[in-house]
Amino acid sequence: MFKVQISKNGSAPFNFKVSADKLDLNDDVNESNFEGEIEVNGKVTDGGKLLNVEGTIKYRKSFICDRCLNPSSEDRVIEFDEELDRSDLEGDVADLTELIRDILIASQPIQNLCKEDCKGLCPVCGKNLNEGECNCDRFVTDPRLEALKKFLND
Ligand SMILES: [Zn+2]
Ligand SMILES: [Zn+2]
Repeated sequence: MFKVQISKNGSAPFNFKVSADKLDLNDDVNESNFEGEIEVNGKVTDGGKLLNVEGTIKYRKSFICDRCLNPSSEDRVIEFDEELDRSDLEGDVADLTELIRDILIASQPIQNLCKEDCKGLCPVCGKNLNEGECNCDRFVTDPRLEALKKFLND
């Protein structure tokens, strides 16, 4: 899908736009999806045995926030700088599809948050705390602390 013609001892620029569906990246289980098109820009530089591939990947991701469970989406940019072995070439053409796919998968955050300081949901009443406070007592008492308090009061 992402094929670049290598110029001997030189560097070859590339610019691809591919529908996220074609990269087979979406996983329905976690409701986290790549939207629309994935844009890849960069260049392949022939360094002899190894080829250097550097560039950026731009994409849009929609997901359910891990804290407040609201649907959200975000534009993201990944910069990459990778090495490709000459033996991976087909003639003088480099197929970057697997490489791009691996970079995208490896760079996914462990947590998907609608915003960095998302306050999440109240564990008592379930209210979205980004929309305002509720009146629940969310202070979790530590049983050891309770015992100490009782001891001190006696
Ligand atoms: Zn959130
Ligand atoms: Zn509450």
